[in-house]
Amino acid sequence: MSKVRYSVSLNQVATHLLDVRLEIDEPDAGGQVLSLPAWIPGSYMIRDFAKNLVRFEASCAGRCVAWEKLDKQTWRCEPVSDTLRVDIQVYAWDLSVRSAHCDITHAYFNGTSVFLRVHGQSETSLSVELKRPELGFQKAWSVATSLVPEAADSRGFGVYCAEDYEDLIDHPVEIAELSSLSFEVQEVVHRMSVYGRHQWDDERLAGDLQRICRQHAGMFGELPLDRYEFLVMAVGKGYGGLEHRFSTSLLCSRDDLPKKGDATDEKAYRGFLGLCSHEYFHLWNVKRIRPRVFQLSDLSEETYTQLLWVFEGFTSYYDDLCLVRSGCISAEQYLELLAQIVTRVVRGKGRFKQSVAESSFDAWTKFYKQDENAPNAIVSYYAKGALVALALDVRIRQATADGSNLDDLMRLLWQRYGKTGEGVAEGDVEALVEELTGAEFGDFFTEAVYGTSDLDLDGLLAYLGVGVHFRPAKDAKDAGGFVTEISRPVSRSVLGIRLKDSAEAEIAGVFEGAAAALAGLSAGDQIIALNGLQINAANLEKRVAESAPGDRLEIHAFRRDELLRFELQALPAEDDTCELSFLDVDGPTARRRAGWLGSAPR
Ligand code: ZN
Repeated sequence: MSKVRYSVSLNQVATHLLDVRLEIDEPDAGGQVLSLPAWIPGSYMIRDFAKNLVRFEASCAGRCVAWEKLDKQTWRCEPVSDTLRVDIQVYAWDLSVRSAHCDITHAYFNGTSVFLRVHGQSETSLSVELKRPELGFQKAWSVATSLVPEAADSRGFGVYCAEDYEDLIDHPVEIAELSSLSFEVQEVVHRMSVYGRHQWDDERLAGDLQRICRQHAGMFGELPLDRYEFLVMAVGKGYGGLEHRFSTSLLCSRDDLPKKGDATDEKAYRGFLGLCSHEYFHLWNVKRIRPRVFQLSDLSEETYTQLLWVFEGFTSYYDDLCLVRSGCISAEQYLELLAQIVTRVVRGKGRFKQSVAESSFDAWTKFYKQDENAPNAIVSYYAKGALVALALDVRIRQATADGSNLDDLMRLLWQRYGKTGEGVAEGDVEALVEELTGAEFGDFFTEAVYGTSDLDLDGLLAYLGVGVHFRPAKDAKDAGGFVTEISRPVSRSVLGIRLKDSAEAEIAGVFEGAAAALAGLSAGDQIIALNGLQINAANLEKRVAESAPGDRLEIHAFRRDELLRFELQALPAEDDTCELSFLDVDGPTARRRAGWLGSAPR
């Protein structure tokens, strides 16, 4: 029996409370210190999970034990000479993949929200009991988790074990009336369990997931798993994913799932497959190939790295690329997705102010705490990181006369760091690229990773037989895509704002340098009239587009409760929308393009 045991009981889920008991057979003789993490790996923001503790009680042999709080997330109990028992109650009402949520329909939690760290015994093996609920409405519930069962019943209730605290908090748990599918990759059983009302074509999904997982495993050359779980929460509207070593938690809209017959929203489904692909790729990249600083972190405070462009950017490059390589989407559909990433990067002037290395380092306060000014101030280490990966893929091909590519770098990272458990230090990836290619890459990294100038996408993609073209957006929803013929729409007038999702024309954000910004309009302003005529969210864009660039416009808007008048000059929409096309190529470029989009697993 483990000397540190946890148990979770679900009898108060209706009021969003999880009861968690911790028993420590050999507590610290100087007074046992316990704490909860401030953040969860994979989501780089201080979340202070301890704020959700509504009860903390310590006892020993039936007698209360006094305790004191050392800081916002740390407790110390008085010394005791026998098993120390600590009972906590956690308020669980955050429907995301990062925390905990329970009600009469399910219980979902991450260990970071419910399991106290036992200081001095973080490295010892632990057990956790998931108690079978007593209430009637939970009769059909079963457990989905990648925790290793020690003595669990057919529905998954019972005792599980973990190697240490870090392992314990890396297995989210979903308990509900679940539907599930399974498939095998390299003889390893993979399972997807879905909570939430939904209809799905589980056969189609299982087939596509199997192709995706096989493709990733084939690229890395091995699958370091004996099990894998996709835990899905299907809701009306939602999106999110968090990676773990043996599982992933996903939040999706129920309409993202494929339906039987022809009712599938194919675009939404592609997005869902991309999310699954992304999180699965992470089982290598970030969960096993890890930044050294993450290995050393105790999750009590921010852990800084400049490397998220590798761990999130490369993962974002491979998530969609895997879809085309595995045959889940067509080459044209892949270029559509790639064009949209380019558009996303090019639309933010923040890319001239922040490098992807800086964006990684400041993720805690900037990327994860985006406000209305974010597009003007920061760059995404996901989106631009994916373009850096693409650029590096091309540069490695060029430096090795097509002998190597980014896949070889990923395999090398796996061999050197993933398999050995050695952490990746800042600068290691640069050194590895130079080792792989035998070429000097200093200038590349200075510009692409630590610099803020635009990548030469024209030249990079031409090497892969793909043409790049930028044009003005046709409307607010236009994010570019794949084209067979380059279009040249007439540049329409725009204000350069984003609107909130509501009937009123309320500004969500103003783009730097745009007409609205120059005139002094701001996020939060509610535009009510243009040139003396009433305006709403539905007709604003069209009315502005009717004016010619250079025309003078008069806008009335409420800022808080004050009516303000703005005079501005209509400006033409910028060429910020990316179209990609196949260039008419043959010979080595055609072969290279086919290899890039279709690389068979080795
Ligand atoms: Zn990710």
